[in-house]
Amino acid sequence: MPELPEVETTRRGLAPHVEGRRITGVVLRRPDLRWPVPAEVAALLPGQTVLGVRRRAKYLLLDTAPGSALLHLGMSGMLRVLPAATPVETHDHVDLAMDSGRVLRFTDPRRFGCLLWQPAGTTHDLLAGLGPEPLADDFDGDLLFDRSRGRKAPVKAFLMDQAIVVGVGNIYAAEALFRAGIAPGRAAGAVSRERYRRLAAAVKQVLGQAIARGGTTLRDFLSPDGAPGYFEQELAVYGREGEACRTCDRRLRGAVMGGRATVWCPGCQR
Ligand SMILES: [Zn+2]
Repeated sequence: MPELPEVETTRRGLAPHVEGRRITGVVLRRPDLRWPVPAEVAALLPGQTVLGVRRRAKYLLLDTAPGSALLHLGMSGMLRVLPAATPVETHDHVDLAMDSGRVLRFTDPRRFGCLLWQPAGTTHDLLAGLGPEPLADDFDGDLLFDRSRGRKAPVKAFLMDQAIVVGVGNIYAAEALFRAGIAPGRAAGAVSRERYRRLAAAVKQVLGQAIARGGTTLRDFLSPDGAPGYFEQELAVYGREGEACRTCDRRLRGAVMGGRATVWCPGCQR
């Protein structure tokens, strides 16, 4: 599933090819993805210039004067910029044709992704109530400390709560907690301000590194197979249950917390 770094990598790859381009046509090959595609997408986008490509949480927004196309990649979605004559395949659901002679093509075999519409000056329901962006200045240890007081939920579930901070998926939560030395099952309200400061810094570090790595795949962005991937060899705990901690050599433990597989080091994380 695309996580925040993959979505940000996608945004950076698309922006130079899409920003400033006029949309000349919209082709919807299915009336619905995860949800029905609203009529505004085909009615209002043609003729509009894309003013910017933004990311909020794991959503991408293509801003135009009347509003924004709101895209989510779901489990298996992919956005590519291709020559307009590129043959259409089974799971190519949407094309936005551009005045550059290329199309922005949305492909999604499992159709958990979506294409929605946010009128200018409004905030879509899916984006309302979201916490800050993890890489923004308003996300820090003090915010985590203040919002966690009195909470008994595991700190990992707290960190993955989109109302607290967006886009910290399972992999990145596990890795950040390891770097911060915090056991994932500890009650969120029992973690000190100082430790939350380390955790916020670790979140920024792991996401920032993943985005920087994603950047290395950008040269492949325009190729049909150019999907950014994870870098498993760099993961300290995620997916390594039962293996030796690379820091202290103890055996990494695993458990299911809040429905998500979690791995941690009982030596390095308290
Ligand atoms: Zn360890």
